[in-house]
Amino acid sequence: MHELAVCESIVSAVRMHADGRPVRTIHLRIGTLRQIVPDTLLFCWTLVTEGSDLADSELLVERIDGRIRCRHCQGERVLDDYVLACDHCGGVDVEVVAGEEFLITALELTEA
Ligand SMILES: [Zn+2]
Repeated sequence: MHELAVCESIVSAVRMHADGRPVRTIHLRIGTLRQIVPDTLLFCWTLVTEGSDLADSELLVERIDGRIRCRHCQGERVLDDYVLACDHCGGVDVEVVAGEEFLITALELTEA
């Protein structure tokens, strides 16, 4: 399962940044173009962290819509149909400008 591997890398990143301090909430920003299902991710998170120091932590996922920009007319639109073509001029010379994010944006630590 893809999300399982993703969770394992989140765990390593969180451990590195928290540096032994207890973590309450992990804020993630995930683009919709990443093939990650948030519900599956949350489920995997409980599996991966079970019995560990992160067992009580929570993932908070912010989804970012995919966006494309046309190199021909500079038109932008939300990429909701996986068709890489411009809405404005029909051009196919487009670039993805958002939606491929995968970031840990913040860690909330438990007050000691
Ligand atoms: Zn265009």
